[in-house]
Amino acid sequence: MDTVSLDDSGRDSCSTGFESSSPSSLSNSDNEDNVSCESSHHEPSNEKGKPNLVINTRQLWNEINKTAQWGAIAGTSGIARLSLSNEDRCVRDYFVSETTKMGCQVTIDQMGNIFAVLPGENDEIPPIGIGSHLDTQPAGGRFDGILGVLGAVEVLKTIKNSNQKTYAPLAAINWTNEEGARFTPGCSGSAVWAGHTLLSQAHAVSDSSSARSIKQELERIRYLGSEPADYRVNQLSAHFELHIEQQRILQDAQKKIGIVKSIQGIRWYRIHVHGQRAHAGSTPMDQRADAMVAAANLILFLEKRACGVVAVATTGVVELDRPSPNTVPGEVLLTLDLRHPCEAELDGFETAMRLYVSEFEVEHPKIQINTTRIWRSPAAKMNDFAVSCARRAAERIVGEENVMDTTSLAGHDSALTSTRVPTSMIFVPSKDGMSHAPEEFTSEEQCGAGVQVLLEAVLEYDLSLRHAI
Ligand SMILES: [Zn+2]
Repeated sequence: MDTVSLDDSGRDSCSTGFESSSPSSLSNSDNEDNVSCESSHHEPSNEKGKPNLVINTRQLWNEINKTAQWGAIAGTSGIARLSLSNEDRCVRDYFVSETTKMGCQVTIDQMGNIFAVLPGENDEIPPIGIGSHLDTQPAGGRFDGILGVLGAVEVLKTIKNSNQKTYAPLAAINWTNEEGARFTPGCSGSAVWAGHTLLSQAHAVSDSSSARSIKQELERIRYLGSEPADYRVNQLSAHFELHIEQQRILQDAQKKIGIVKSIQGIRWYRIHVHGQRAHAGSTPMDQRADAMVAAANLILFLEKRACGVVAVATTGVVELDRPSPNTVPGEVLLTLDLRHPCEAELDGFETAMRLYVSEFEVEHPKIQINTTRIWRSPAAKMNDFAVSCARRAAERIVGEENVMDTTSLAGHDSALTSTRVPTSMIFVPSKDGMSHAPEEFTSEEQCGAGVQVLLEAVLEYDLSLRHAI
């Protein structure tokens, strides 16, 4: 088990203005809907012996704005905090510092996932995890992932300050490289922990600009822990995640809280199309093996199939090998990002794609198409009991009429944890559904309501563990 010392270099270079508000902070005047935290939610009930605790919305809001300084994009409220960058190291150091100060035991695993554990009455049972991520897209916002981690810290602070203890320990978790912007694919910290990706494989992934690997960067920023990144060793009793919605379903339905029932599955493919390079003027059309034309046919097939089964299929990268205006393309590399809430549909899509490819190759013998699945985040169903804890909490706090069940169309660490431990996700609205952009916005009141739901959901789950003994 690694504990982190709050020493030297990292902190010094990061500690610029902890106490002063960031120049790009969102002030109250930026949010017309803002109401005081005291009036933003009902007093939580004290039924079944649950502690009567209220989170500090203003403190949470200040933390969101304060941590936005690491990677702040000048002139915007956005953040560029790529995974394992210097900016990521700074916000990690702050997370460790804050949780250590309140008495948490901080553990870092071999993927740099950070577990800040607040002791409970029974530390023999695994902690209830409350996690998300602090890394961002190259031009991201200050809420995606960050709300979930800082919300977890606020939950722990609220419990700690009440001088009460939960039955199970609680772990605020920062998962490594959720975004996958610098090191693809994303969610690699939780994927290794959940046993879906080998540690050696994840460690070897390099970024495209510097060719530095995840392992090298973990070492450089001093977040390569020795605790196994393994759900069987570093166990959790459950995982709760608060996240901004990144869709506009809640906003359009005028709901305040979304209870996630499932997360759609994601599969990534690398597709190599091999043809025959040839002269553009002297090669008749019927004698060509044009890799680009084959690729275009495949892309159109994928689009048609996706429309038919209500999946989403995206070819975001097309690379020609040594392109030239007067040469028939000989080799093309494509990517495919395929998503659907049901694993069976994804399996069916994959089979249909391979069938299309083999038929195309029969029809065009000089074309060869190799499809390789390079990553998968399983379609995930949230745990019924953990979901019911979140739903009851939400109904108490914002009223039943303001809560709706929903599906996450984006991937999350919770998709991975859900394969190993009971998992639940709570959504708060994203203004206009905007995310992965500096314009991303969720109001102070909305953030506070989400964290209050998170707190009460966790307390209810904790109560069930107490009664299970
Ligand atoms: Zn996220």
